[in-house]
Amino acid sequence: PQPNPEVGAAVKAADRAHVFHSWSAQELLDPLAVAGAEGSYFWDYDGRRYLDFTSGLVYTNIGYQHPKVVAAIQEQAARMTTFAPAFAVEARSEAARLIAERTPGDLDKIFFTNGGADAVEHALRMARLHTGRPKVLSAYRSYHGGTQQAVNVTGDPRRWASDSGTAGVVRFWAPFLYRSRFYAGTEEQECARALEHLETTISFEGPSTIAAIVLETVPGTAGIMPPPAGYLAGVREFCDKYGIVFVLDEVMAGFGRTGRWFAADLYDVVPDLMTFAKGVNSGYVPLGGVAISGEIADTFGKRPYPGGLTYSGHPLACAAAVATIGVMAQEGVVENAAALGASVVGPGLRELAQRHPSVGEVRGTGMFWALELVRSRETREPLVPYNAAGEANAPMAAFAAAAKEAGVWPFVNMNRTHVVPPCNASEAELEEGLAALDAALSVADRYVE
Ligand code: PLP
Repeated sequence: PQPNPEVGAAVKAADRAHVFHSWSAQELLDPLAVAGAEGSYFWDYDGRRYLDFTSGLVYTNIGYQHPKVVAAIQEQAARMTTFAPAFAVEARSEAARLIAERTPGDLDKIFFTNGGADAVEHALRMARLHTGRPKVLSAYRSYHGGTQQAVNVTGDPRRWASDSGTAGVVRFWAPFLYRSRFYAGTEEQECARALEHLETTISFEGPSTIAAIVLETVPGTAGIMPPPAGYLAGVREFCDKYGIVFVLDEVMAGFGRTGRWFAADLYDVVPDLMTFAKGVNSGYVPLGGVAISGEIADTFGKRPYPGGLTYSGHPLACAAAVATIGVMAQEGVVENAAALGASVVGPGLRELAQRHPSVGEVRGTGMFWALELVRSRETREPLVPYNAAGEANAPMAAFAAAAKEAGVWPFVNMNRTHVVPPCNASEAELEEGLAALDAALSVADRYVE
């Protein structure tokens, strides 16, 4: 890439003057001006290149600027850039068919949204209307989106500012052995006790008041915690027993991230509703949706579904999904995530953990990994406190700065770094990223007690 610092300075100045950024104190921001991106890399206007170990916000599952998807978007733009949602349109029909072909069980009807949060909003609305019940159960360690209902089912602190006592949401603890809420010593204990806790919660809330249980199949932003074997099957049983709609949120875990088309495939579980976004078209054009079971689709067979969006199934976004799914199938992207996750990323991270005392735990699958950074392996005290900011967050900030210095852009959340490269990253790219993390972890090690 040709450096062009003057353009970079102008881009940055206009951003600082006029762009209001997500989740941020505006005056404390210092966003990098990005000049371009290709494959697993992006670069700034000074000519500095970074390996993207974040896949954007865990969505560029096929990397940046895949030529086949760019061409498909260009072709669709030339033919039919947009068309209203009430019509049958080729790109929309084909995207729905390809998605339904891959979703588990009888999730064969697709309601398209513009992203993940609105997919969650609609899934929960469908569940409430289908059951006629008011409440939703969700997990504390979760993220489901930034709109009012989606952020209220979210567990993490981003909920607090928008917490609404009327949202009809009850939260519970899902399994997470490393920081067990159940005093468990094994995955089997954690699983059994988490299920017992969930069933007690259902009983005390009143099964006849609960419309849905919503879970990320593998919780993502909250820490990439693959559930123990049997947990999701247990939740499925409760949903069947009590007439509750089981919603799996696969906005982050879906479309290859875990080394399967959907994380639900890892656990052989079929929800009643499944949300998706991000990887469906690698975010080249905004798109999300809900995959709907036959039974719930039938509820809205003769009775209208009271919800919609101007851009539901936008042809440009759907053409990008058709091309992305095609590329993923032709190029073995899902298989690549599974194979290199198992042969390179997992072993590489475990090897780093052996040498770096700041690493408390390594967990994940496919291209979906987290390192839990701690002050002490013995006490498991997080490297920074829960929801730390400013000075209290200095160790994680120093880790992130060191990773960037070493050429990799890291995903950092609280006391964790997530390793979430594109699902089609090569072995050489992954090795390059692991070497950069090695250097950055030496900085984190300085804070170990
Ligand atoms: N659900 C999950 C599991 C997510 O990870 C996200 C975003 O990170 C969302 C929902 C919200 O998606 P969006 O930001 O597209 O609204």
